[in-house]
Amino acid sequence: MAEKRDYYEILGVSQSADLDQVKKAYRKLAIKYHPDKNPDDSAAEGKFKEATEAYEVLSTPEKRQRYDQFGHAGLEGMDVSAQNFGGFEDIVNNIFGDFGDLFGFSDSRHGQTGPKRGRNLQYDLEIDLEDVVEGKSTEINIPRLEACETCNGSGAEPGTQPQVCPECTGRGKVSMQSGFFSVTRTCARCGGQGRVILNSCKVCGGEGMTQKTRNLRVSVPKGVDTGNQLKVRGEGESGVNGGPPGDLIVVIHVRSSEQFIRQGNDLITAVCITFTQAALGVEVDVPTIKDTEELQIPPGTQFGDRLRIGGKGIPYYNSRASGDLIVIIEIQTPKSLTAQEKELLETFADMRGEQIESDNSNILRRIGERFFRNADGNR
Ligand SMILES: [Zn+2]
Ligand SMILES: [Zn+2]
Repeated sequence: MAEKRDYYEILGVSQSADLDQVKKAYRKLAIKYHPDKNPDDSAAEGKFKEATEAYEVLSTPEKRQRYDQFGHAGLEGMDVSAQNFGGFEDIVNNIFGDFGDLFGFSDSRHGQTGPKRGRNLQYDLEIDLEDVVEGKSTEINIPRLEACETCNGSGAEPGTQPQVCPECTGRGKVSMQSGFFSVTRTCARCGGQGRVILNSCKVCGGEGMTQKTRNLRVSVPKGVDTGNQLKVRGEGESGVNGGPPGDLIVVIHVRSSEQFIRQGNDLITAVCITFTQAALGVEVDVPTIKDTEELQIPPGTQFGDRLRIGGKGIPYYNSRASGDLIVIIEIQTPKSLTAQEKELLETFADMRGEQIESDNSNILRRIGERFFRNADGNR
């Protein structure tokens, strides 16, 4: 693959550019290189994709920060973005959302006459944390509107045809003189369709659509997280007047686990050991998401210490690497002692003289490091 260009350079903005400036710069390039304006021009298409990718990164604070820090390498396997799932068109669609009708698609998308693209459907899919490790193929049932089979979506009773609208004579628009201006309006009689149905189809009541439940298999890639979206092309609602169907957007929700806390691609779990084990060291079995793993706890381990088992966390999307399993140690102090145990411990205490650290600020600093360092994602 060719060397990737710097995203700031591509958009022609400085590193300190704010979101507005990034948007403006992208908008300019997008209009110039948009494939609709440059049909069959692969150089323009390349520029458009390049600018779109740069925009995607520089307009997402988290990605931009990674990029600023680590360059292109910082974004590899970072998360499951639209880019990973559905390819570049998804990003464009997302940005169209931002920019509205900038690219002049308004006619085909919102126009009253002619083919209309079906609506996108959203489906919320709950999966278990375990499914995130391997990925999952699952069946979902989606209720959606499909073209009525009786009338083939025309809305007219079989054997009859929609008629040319008498109000607008099929233009879908009516013009009215208002002062100096001629105002053109969508025809109210036919809703801009240019045709009216005189005999409605009895099955769909003239809507041309009926409610159907569709069974689909979707495969959820490993490494996904709550809020990630999968786009299944063409599985949304049927288009109108021969327009293309919308897409199905599957929104992932990962159920929380009782054994693990997820932190990005790391998993956090806890094990409890006795105070003698903490002092002497011990080998314990730690539950991982698939089975268990042996963990050597070193002598002198303190309450709240974190031990890391590499690669036993959540895999990264599109990568063989995985996050780690972080094991937080809890130390159990015996709540009741026999007379003999007490005596032994007292002997032990005498032997040691039981000198403990009394510098309060030092203790507080350590506790802060142990319990709060991960709150902001630091390790
Ligand atoms: Zn029908
Ligand atoms: Zn009309």
